[in-house]
Amino acid sequence: MAQRAKNINTLSLVTERPETEAADASNDVCQLCFGTGMEIVPGKGARPCSCRESDRHANPFEKVRVPTRYIKCHFNSYEPATPSQTAAVRYAMQFAQEYPGVDRGLLLMGSVGVGKTHLAVSILKGLTERGFSPLFYEFGSLLKEIQDSYNAFTNTSELAVLSPVLKADVLVLDELGASKPTDWVRDTMAHIINSRYNDNKLTIFTTNYLDVRTGTEETLEDRIGVRLRSRLYEMCRTIIIEGEDHRRRMHSPRRA
Ligand code: ADP
Repeated sequence: MAQRAKNINTLSLVTERPETEAADASNDVCQLCFGTGMEIVPGKGARPCSCRESDRHANPFEKVRVPTRYIKCHFNSYEPATPSQTAAVRYAMQFAQEYPGVDRGLLLMGSVGVGKTHLAVSILKGLTERGFSPLFYEFGSLLKEIQDSYNAFTNTSELAVLSPVLKADVLVLDELGASKPTDWVRDTMAHIINSRYNDNKLTIFTTNYLDVRTGTEETLEDRIGVRLRSRLYEMCRTIIIEGEDHRRRMHSPRRA
């Protein structure tokens, strides 16, 4: 694994899948309807195939990789309940409107449920509507995909996983610091963050960890290391969002 971590820091070339593999992928027809859109049910006849049903409900932001749970998030559905939330939505809208005339990414910092991911997704939607190609990744899932690419039986390579992450106009990395901070995790984070920084690509981070220690809670610096935290000061405008956990507010017995 240590060797892998070393390799990842020296990646410079981006490999695409061979053409034959891409052709195979495009031949990937539904095994129920064989591409006709109608499925034969023995003894009952034909009915619209379930593959078309899933197309109809397809996530319009699938290319951006916004998780289904967040598809409905938008600036106009964000209800600021504190002054810092009002300021946060203003900065987020400004980013979405002024990009690419923006010189720094954002670090959305705050406790669980204050709407950091909601605002990050809203920015990506705004950018997509303006024709840019941003990308959303939950940091833990990205690390898992990179690890899975080491498996000889999967059809991906580390480079194939990382290529869109490094190339996206704007990248959201959700839940920074949530993964257990091993050397490999820190090396991989550093590679992604530094590569994007060197290529002048903007990144929006969300994190539940703060800079100030509260009780026994670890700080963001504890989770990602001094060097990376320092790099983020340079790369991002830090936006601290304070407030109650929106989920708790919405589902508390008082409200019911
Ligand atoms: P965080 O990323 O800060 O943990 P999320 O963005 O995941 O929080 O928010 C949790 C849920 O609450 C989401 O469904 C989100 O849309 C909703 N939410 C959070 N804050 C607000 C808000 N101020 N107005 C409307 N919905 C909110």
